[in-house]
Amino acid sequence: MTARTLTILGATGSIGASTLDLVRRQRHKWRVVALTANGNATELAALAREFGAEIAVVADEGALPALREALAGSGIEAAAGPGALVEAASRPADLTIAAIVGCAGLAPTMAAIEQGALVGLANKEALVSAGDVMTAAVARSGATLLPVDSEHNAIFQCLAGNDPADVLAITLTASGGPFREWSAAQLAAATPAQAVKHPNWSMGAKISVDSATMMNKGLELIEAFHLFPVGLDALRIIIHPQSIIHSMVEYRDGSTLAQLGPSDMRVPIASTLAWPRRMDTPCAPLNLAALGQLTFHAPDELRFPATRIARAAAEAGGAAPAVLNAANEVAVAAFLAGHIGFTRIAADVENVLARGLPPAPASLEDVLAVDAEARIRARELLELA
Ligand code: NAD
Ligand code: MG
Repeated sequence: MTARTLTILGATGSIGASTLDLVRRQRHKWRVVALTANGNATELAALAREFGAEIAVVADEGALPALREALAGSGIEAAAGPGALVEAASRPADLTIAAIVGCAGLAPTMAAIEQGALVGLANKEALVSAGDVMTAAVARSGATLLPVDSEHNAIFQCLAGNDPADVLAITLTASGGPFREWSAAQLAAATPAQAVKHPNWSMGAKISVDSATMMNKGLELIEAFHLFPVGLDALRIIIHPQSIIHSMVEYRDGSTLAQLGPSDMRVPIASTLAWPRRMDTPCAPLNLAALGQLTFHAPDELRFPATRIARAAAEAGGAAPAVLNAANEVAVAAFLAGHIGFTRIAADVENVLARGLPPAPASLEDVLAVDAEARIRARELLELA
């Protein structure tokens, strides 16, 4: 069997590490083309050497000398900057895992899609921002988008072999995050350290804060809207604190299919790596008897308004989701840096959206322009200058 070629955009992150953990367990099946990171040249070079990558790319041009030095004598190419990221992503690969965080991953993810091969999408912000621009590129290039996000991977599995016309509803489950039971007063005083401590999942800082505000579920609602064309009204959200059911699809005959599994991203990543087959993972199997019960309740959009704001942005369409995402990225970074309080994140996103919207983006360049402009407006509003 010839090895499949693999590129990982965002190889040094949480999703990147989980992907490489699985690849490490079946090295002979994969040949790594490109590995990328933001600025951590030492870690990226170590991974590139371990996996015999063709090329390693850092987004931050200042990190290029360190990357070159760390790769000296290895024969592995070193490159830096946004253009180099796109060039690396456009090198032929059977599977690309898009795992950069934020809209920063959009251009390289689009380059991977243009190849027309398989793209495992973890980078939800890219799809939220680009929306139809990305789905049109997928259709045009003949690429297959495989959802890595656990909820969307679950839905993808529950839809397999069924006719989308028979779907009544899709329910995204949400853990509710670390502040699920906090009062409004407690939320106002929440710190970055508390927000990044997720009860069930171990993830990067940005998505951890998004889980705490519930904006993660809002972004996932928009992600699902584009991946599974059943209409916004058929998309629901339910709080399920145990994070065992990763999402569900309800059919018109009264059957609801759910995907269950441990809260470990290696499960959805494995389903992407092996698709349409299955592979082993090191994850402990579910022990439902030990868990005892799975519980559910409706989301509280008064304490956690982000899902309401995201649904409204999806309904508005056009540039709204890209503006929502950009404003959220700016606000989350400001919160993590200690500049604003926790509850201002969602409030500021809503304020940026309320200031009017640019025309609907029709190309990648348009989306990037909407994103850049919304960031400026968000910074002004947050008085970050
Ligand atoms: P992370 O912060 O751990 O890693 C992000 C990766 O992107 C790193 O390799 C980093 O070097 C790179 N990066 C960061 N900024 C960059 C920039 N400006 N340009 C280029 N590269 C940059 O994030 P993560 O938790 O692995 O999440 C990655 C994506 O996957 C996010 O979109 C997140 O929402 C999604 N996701 C993550 C999880 C999870 O469990 N971690 C689950 C579902 C979806
Ligand atoms: Mg998710």
